[in-house]
Amino acid sequence: MEQVDCVVVGAGVVGLAVARALAQAGRDVIILEAAEGIGTETSSRNSEVIHAGIYYPANSLMARFCVAGRRALYRYCDEKGVPYRNCGKLIVATNAQEDAMLAGIKQRAEANGVEGMRVLTAAEAIEMEPNLHCTSALLSPTTGIIDSHSYMVALQGDAEHAGAVLAIFSPMMGGRVADREIEIYVGGSDPMNLRARLVVNAAGLHAPGLAEHIQGMPKERIPTAYYAKGNYFTLSGRSPFSRLIYPVPVPGGLGVHLTIDLGGQARFGPDVEWIDAIDYTVDPHRSDSFYDAVRKYWPALKDGALQPGYAGIRPKIVPKGAPGQDFVVQGPQTHGVPGLINLFGIESPGLTASLAIADHVVEVSQTG
Ligand SMILES: Cc1cc2nc3c(=O)[nH]c(=O)nc-3n(C[C@H](O)[C@H](O)[C@H](O)COP(=O)(O)OP(=O)(O)OC[C@H]3O[C@@H](n4cnc5c(N)ncnc54)[C@H](O)[C@@H]3O)c2cc1C
Repeated sequence: MEQVDCVVVGAGVVGLAVARALAQAGRDVIILEAAEGIGTETSSRNSEVIHAGIYYPANSLMARFCVAGRRALYRYCDEKGVPYRNCGKLIVATNAQEDAMLAGIKQRAEANGVEGMRVLTAAEAIEMEPNLHCTSALLSPTTGIIDSHSYMVALQGDAEHAGAVLAIFSPMMGGRVADREIEIYVGGSDPMNLRARLVVNAAGLHAPGLAEHIQGMPKERIPTAYYAKGNYFTLSGRSPFSRLIYPVPVPGGLGVHLTIDLGGQARFGPDVEWIDAIDYTVDPHRSDSFYDAVRKYWPALKDGALQPGYAGIRPKIVPKGAPGQDFVVQGPQTHGVPGLINLFGIESPGLTASLAIADHVVEVSQTG
């Protein structure tokens, strides 16, 4: 059986960032990826927003990693020439009750260390975005958009430059805790067994299922996987807004918001659809509920203007109706297995937070 130092399972944005950080810290890294290439799952099915860090509970991993990750990500994009645009975002109130909520959102953002948040009058917001209808708005100037594929290619390049090796079509099927190492069973067309000193489970939607297949990993520490699909509808023609437009959040979600990609295409979503199995089809009828929601802040939306776009699936570890769950980075101090780090529930803002999550994984690998 071949002996290796570190195995990172999953070449999504998080696995790639972790592999890069470990390799740059001097570790020998193999990245096992089940699919035909990098980032084919959640990392290419999201809003590509660089989040500021506004809504997360103070001191949560999401709040800390989003703010630190966002700052690191802008620097990284500048250094590597990864396309991005620091376009900013408006959270828009459309009645007196929502006007009153903006101060609370600003306060929470500031407690998380988000810079430059500013409440705007309706006139100030409409001067910035003439197509907008609102009664007031909150400006988040540090929010942006990124070309997530270019970002992943840059991470892969850095990891490989530091000696990491990516193996595609190489699913980890299971493993076994053996002394202070972990045996890994790799499937695919060229099956093999490895022994690793460190295994990082960054398998996204499949991370809980993979942990179940590691003999010796305590079952009671493995969360149940739940899937919350997010459907997007695209708007033909140019975007009516140059910033991202979000309504005031509703209980359980951020509301139907507008994001823009770097090509200037606008899309609305993601909504929330709880599902039992992975399925990325977008039901065109789901757009019915989008029209009324969007017209609150963009009354000019025409009937029939929304086309089914794509969908992504949030890797939830709590069921529908449960309070939100923080990122889970589980090292030996939590589950007792030396050399195993599980990443569970890495939903939004996982793309923004990826560099900070990676730094944290390196720390856990050194202290665990
Ligand atoms: C609808 C939606 C919108 C979002 N919008 C944003 C946003 O705007 N901004 C933001 O910051 N975040 C956003 N996110 C969150 C972000 O997309 C995720 O946090 C991030 O992509 C997770 O990356 P990952 O590497 O953990 O998972 P993934 O990208 O899913 O990667 C996991 C990889 O593991 C591989 N794999 C699985 N099992 C195995 C196995 N057994 N062996 C080998 N390989 C395996 C898979 O093939 C896959 O490549 C959004 C998420 C969703 C669902």
